[in-house]
Amino acid sequence: MTQNAFRNLPAVNDLLELESIRTLIDQHAHDLVVAAIRVELADLRQQIAQGETVDDASTAASVAQRVADRLERELRPKLRAVINATGIVLHTNIGRAPIAEAAGNAAREAACGYLNLELDLETGKRSSRPLAIREWVCRLTGAESATAVNNNAAATVIVLRAVCHGKEVVISRGQLVEIGGSFRIPEIMGVSGALLREVGATNITRLSDYEKAIGPNTGALLQVHCSNYRISGHTEAVPLEDLIALGRKHGLPVIDDIGSGALLDFARFGFHGEPVARQSIAAGADLVLFSGDKLLGGPQSGIIAGKKELIQKIEKDPLMRAFRLDKMTLAALETTLRIYLDEAKALQAIPVLRMLGAPLPELRRRAEALAVRLRTLAGIAGVRVSEDVAFVGGGSLPDQTMPTAALEVTAQQTSDAELAHRLRVGNPAVLCRVRDGRLVLDVRTIFPEQETAVVKAFQRSLQA
Ligand SMILES: *Cc1c(COP(=O)(O)O)cnc(C)c1O
Repeated sequence: MTQNAFRNLPAVNDLLELESIRTLIDQHAHDLVVAAIRVELADLRQQIAQGETVDDASTAASVAQRVADRLERELRPKLRAVINATGIVLHTNIGRAPIAEAAGNAAREAACGYLNLELDLETGKRSSRPLAIREWVCRLTGAESATAVNNNAAATVIVLRAVCHGKEVVISRGQLVEIGGSFRIPEIMGVSGALLREVGATNITRLSDYEKAIGPNTGALLQVHCSNYRISGHTEAVPLEDLIALGRKHGLPVIDDIGSGALLDFARFGFHGEPVARQSIAAGADLVLFSGDKLLGGPQSGIIAGKKELIQKIEKDPLMRAFRLDKMTLAALETTLRIYLDEAKALQAIPVLRMLGAPLPELRRRAEALAVRLRTLAGIAGVRVSEDVAFVGGGSLPDQTMPTAALEVTAQQTSDAELAHRLRVGNPAVLCRVRDGRLVLDVRTIFPEQETAVVKAFQRSLQA
């Protein structure tokens, strides 16, 4: 009987004749399909050898289906689109800022064609990459000059190296921050070859603390924005203006790492205390550093704006070759910055700004409409629209929330945790929050054109 079962298995060549397998061969390399067939047949042989009955599983159609499933499972891309229903606008694990459509298009064109990346089209002579963004950053921040590297961590390293190598950089103990993914100011300092000179206490640093630390080997004064934490209670920090005055007095550059790269005042969205690049330059900071993909809402990058002479020094540093932006990012960043030249346009076209600025009544309307669609699905027990709060995320504005409209979904048969899991591993993945036994969706971060995909994802997850 076992011999029969072995003999009844379809042959590789027979399987290759099947329409469904031919379709797979069109999609994937022939060899990959054959290899998958062999694995499936080997599995069946093993089951038979162990005395199992495999009648239904061993038909040609059934093996072909499992081959298709295996290839789909094993060969699907590692990077996949995710629908963000968490309400967290800058979510580190899912790529921080989604960029403007025009910026995405610019990146695509740069990627797929040729462009004047390092060529001056007027003169035919060689030029340099940062020219694509220099003028725009200067216009938007008021700085004399600017350049850009791969991220703000790289910006910090290259600035400290080019300006303070072998010299002491004075920084408050209250600002020795760790930004997610083990980026710690003291360690970065070590990498750059600058020497850390901590002053003050965690909660209190006074101007006199900085002044006492200044000596013949001081290279710069550094201020780092407490992006992802707050020190509250009995605290005292030195205002940037005072630090700059002290730097002037001693002929030392003042470097301001503002973190998120706000190009406009986020108070308009109800967020307070986020430093704006232009204000820092206006106050007299010699160099201002910020991320391109936090509140700025552009591609991952680190922007350095400030004094021309210092920017030249930074661009001459050998690390610039290692940290320079690629053509796609540069194109996306230039487009993003140019959008900001018209603030009203930026508020609409930059997704981060659009999401943060979405009015509550509009979010509520969208939530209600989505709730109506979800309630029609089989397996749904209830969908309630409620007011909730959301965070910006991405290590920005940790102590501030914004009111938002959320959908609380409960299923008849499936637990909230199980439903959340199925949504997360589906295609496209939908990321939700789970709270008090309810699945919570925030429409703020769901693009309107993704709403149908969300409904379908729920439909699939409830059936699974
Ligand atoms: C986020 C942040 C960084 C690191 O920026 P990346 O672009 O993530 O490398 C550095 N400094 C501050 C203050 C930050 O907020």
